Amino acid sequence: MNISSPQSRLKILILSTPVGALGSGLGGGVELTIANLATELRSRGHSIEIIAPIDSELGDLSIIQVPGELQLTAQTQELAASIVMPGNPVLANMWAKAREIQADYDIIFNTAFDWLPFYLTPFFDRPIAHFVSMGSQIAAIDLAIHKVAVGYPGSIGVCTRTQAETFSFADLCCVVGGSGVDPAVYEYCAAPEDALAWLGRISPEKALEDAVAAADRTGIKLKIMGKIQDPDYWTQIQRDYPNAPIEYLGFLPTHELQQALRTCQGMLMTPRWVEAFGNVAIEALACGVPVIAYRRGGPAEIITDGKTGFLVEPDSVAGLVEAIGRLSEIDRADCRRAAETVFSQSAWGNVIESWFYRLVG
Ligand code: UDP
Repeated sequence: MNISSPQSRLKILILSTPVGALGSGLGGGVELTIANLATELRSRGHSIEIIAPIDSELGDLSIIQVPGELQLTAQTQELAASIVMPGNPVLANMWAKAREIQADYDIIFNTAFDWLPFYLTPFFDRPIAHFVSMGSQIAAIDLAIHKVAVGYPGSIGVCTRTQAETFSFADLCCVVGGSGVDPAVYEYCAAPEDALAWLGRISPEKALEDAVAAADRTGIKLKIMGKIQDPDYWTQIQRDYPNAPIEYLGFLPTHELQQALRTCQGMLMTPRWVEAFGNVAIEALACGVPVIAYRRGGPAEIITDGKTGFLVEPDSVAGLVEAIGRLSEIDRADCRRAAETVFSQSAWGNVIESWFYRLVG
């Protein structure tokens, strides 16, 4: 057991996302974030319990499964949207459970980007570390987060500076990073084949069509992996680019994902929105795969231009194509090194552990 801190061991209650069961892919990067963080903190001697929607699975981590209807994802809603709850909301049921058992824990870690956990904060006895995994999406949620940021200083954690700046209260947010990878899970590949990768939820804010357009222009095969969240959008892309050399491999578990990813020359990240972080970027780096990303949001803080990939003008397919032509300039060992040091699970564990100690006081 790796007990890195002389401070006391914490009892940590993690509240999962209410938009999908853990393991379903509907929760996006938060699923891997929870898995990696829970594993890391447990290896440091802290005890971990997770509350998540029914049917959740996360390796050998203990999960309290809660029934109820899933929440709508925030990224599909308008800024002026009202807060909507289904009749029997899993989100409310998860937080009722947390309230019931909170006395057994030192701290609660919230990963839900939704109004209710922020609203409920004053009604809890235990400190809540709110991990805000998206930029500003819905004004009503912004307002609820802002109130907590003012009333509970230091309790709002965001992934990146750029993400914080989407909120009017950026200076009240703590930048705590978005995730960290265990390098042992990802196998380094020094000699790639002639293929590119694109990973993520297949949903309009991720703009997969730009990566497909770049594959179409270069003729280089694009391996696509991820949850099809919006089937109509995916069908439209295939219609628009009938001859693009693309291959959809499905929504893969991490072990298989890294096998398909590691042999690629580069990975394309084409978000149309301000991506808060971008777990897939650090997963690619861990395999030694350089990342070509739009200079926007989290990826622009993860990738060092010219060293671990290229940052190109946002929404420019020509920019992607030009960067693809320069991929051989990148030393893949530098990518792997960044994942082993700056973006490792243990480095991230240090940051989150210190944040928790500060909040527990
Ligand atoms: N992912 C996966 N299997 C796949 C493709 C993606 O498990 O086939 C995971 C990937 O490991 C990452 C997540 O999907 O953790 C996407 O997270 P990211 O932070 O990049 O974007 P988000 O969905 O949170 O906006």
